Amino acid sequence: MFKKILIANRGEIALRIQRACRELGVKSVVVYSEADRDAKYVKLADEAVCIGPAPSAQSYLSMPAIIATAEVTDAEAIHPGYGFLSENADFAERVERSGFTFIGPTPENIRTMGDKVSAKQAMIKAGVPCVPGSEGALPDDPKEIVRIARAVGYPVIIKAAGGGGGRGMRVVHTEAALVNAVQMTKAEAAAAFGNPQVYMEKFLEHPRHVEIQVLADGHKNAVWLGERDCSMQRRHQKIIEEAPAPGIPRRLIERVGDRCAAACKKMGYRGAGTFEFLYENGEFYFIEMNTRVQVEHPVTELVTGIDIVQMQIRIAAGEKLPFTQRNITMRGHSIECRINAEDPVKFIPSPGRITMWHPPGGPGVRVDSHAYTNYFVPPNYDSMIGKIIVHGDTREQALARMRIALSETVVEGIQTNIPLHRELMADAKFIEGGTDIHYLEQWMAAHKR
Ligand code: ADP
Repeated sequence: MFKKILIANRGEIALRIQRACRELGVKSVVVYSEADRDAKYVKLADEAVCIGPAPSAQSYLSMPAIIATAEVTDAEAIHPGYGFLSENADFAERVERSGFTFIGPTPENIRTMGDKVSAKQAMIKAGVPCVPGSEGALPDDPKEIVRIARAVGYPVIIKAAGGGGGRGMRVVHTEAALVNAVQMTKAEAAAAFGNPQVYMEKFLEHPRHVEIQVLADGHKNAVWLGERDCSMQRRHQKIIEEAPAPGIPRRLIERVGDRCAAACKKMGYRGAGTFEFLYENGEFYFIEMNTRVQVEHPVTELVTGIDIVQMQIRIAAGEKLPFTQRNITMRGHSIECRINAEDPVKFIPSPGRITMWHPPGGPGVRVDSHAYTNYFVPPNYDSMIGKIIVHGDTREQALARMRIALSETVVEGIQTNIPLHRELMADAKFIEGGTDIHYLEQWMAAHKR
C-alpha cells in the first residue's frame, strides 16, 4: 500500500478521498487554490499545498503544479477525483512518466473511451449493446450521410466524437435539416474539442439513464456492482440518483452487467469505471464510459457495502480484486440528492457565505459534504456543495428517510436546491419510479418554472 497520496481535486470528493486514505492508513496531501484555502479537507489534511489562484486553469488543471507538489511532498500516487484532470489521458501519462502512480485506468484505457467513436467500436466488439447508428465517424459525402440517416431512421442525433458534458450534440428530425446540422456540429466540435469528427445515432425519445458500475484490477479480474438510475436530470446534469433502477427486470440488468465486466477484461481495463446506457422499451443502449469515480458512487456503496474509492486505491497499489462476481450482493435501496448552491427555481448559482449549516442524520443517512457553518462557497467552481444519501430496506423506506433528511437540513446564507428536492420526493410519478430523462424538465414546465 502507498504511504502517501496526493488528492488532485477539491470539494466533497477531496474530503471523500481523504476519508478513504485515512481508513487505509495512508497519509494524504491536498492541493488547493487560493479560493479553497478555508475548506474543511484542507484543514484536515496531513499536508496541504496551495498551487495557484482561483481559476482552475491556473490551479486544479495545472499539471506541472500538481506533479511538482507530488515531488516535493514525496507522495507516491495521485488521485484525480472527478472532473478537472480525471479523464485526461495526457495527465495520466505525465503522472506515470514522472514516477507516480495514477489512481485510475491506463492512459490507453482513458484515450479509447474518451473518443466516443472508438469507445463505441470497442463496445460493439465486446458485445455491449449500443444505440443503432453510423459505423464510426460520418463521411464527408452528403449523399452518404443522407443514406445512413435513412437506414437509422429519424429522428437522429449528431454527436461529436470528442464531446462531453452534454455539449456537441444536435437532434435532427427531417432529411431537409440533416446535412446542414452535420456541418454545424462538425464546426462546433472542431472549435470546442479540437476534433471535428461526428457520428450519428438514432435519437431515443423517452429513455431512462441507467448506468453500470464496474471495478477491474488489470489482472484480468472484473466485476460489476449493480446499476444506478440517474434519469432525474436538468440540461444533462444529474440531480437525483438511485440504486437499484426501479422496475427493470433483474435478468436484463444481469445480462448487461456481465457484458460490461467482460468488456473490461477484453480491454485490459484497470480501476473503477461506469458504462452509461439509455434504457428504452426493455432495451439497453450504451452511450459512453466514464473512466473515473462518479459523483453518484455512494448509492452503489450503500447497496453493495463496497467502498469504491478504497478499491480504486487498492487496485492502483497492485492488489487483485478481493471478491468475485458471486460474492457481490445488493441489499435494499439507496437514493442520493445532489445539493447545489443555486436558486431552486431559476437555477442561477448562489455562491457566498453559509451562515448556518445543519446536516441531517439518523439511521441510513450519509452526508458527503465539505461545507460547514461560515464556509464560503466560491463562485469559481461547480455549484455542488454536497450530497445527501440514504439507504433503506425498500425503496419506500429510502424515500421516507430522504424526506426526513431533507426536512432536517438547514442551509442559510445562500440558496440551495433543497426545496426542489423536497418537492420531487413528494411527486407521485417519482414515487412510482421509472421516470425518463425528460421528466424533470417537463415537470418544471408544468410547475411554471
Ligand atoms: P456527454 O458526454 O456530453 O454527457 P452522452 O453521450 O453521455 O454525452 O449524452 C448525454 C445525454 O444526451 C444523454 O444522457 C441523453 O440525455 C442525451 N443523448 C445522448 N445520446 C442520445 C440518443 N441517442 N438518444 C437520445 N438522447 C441521447
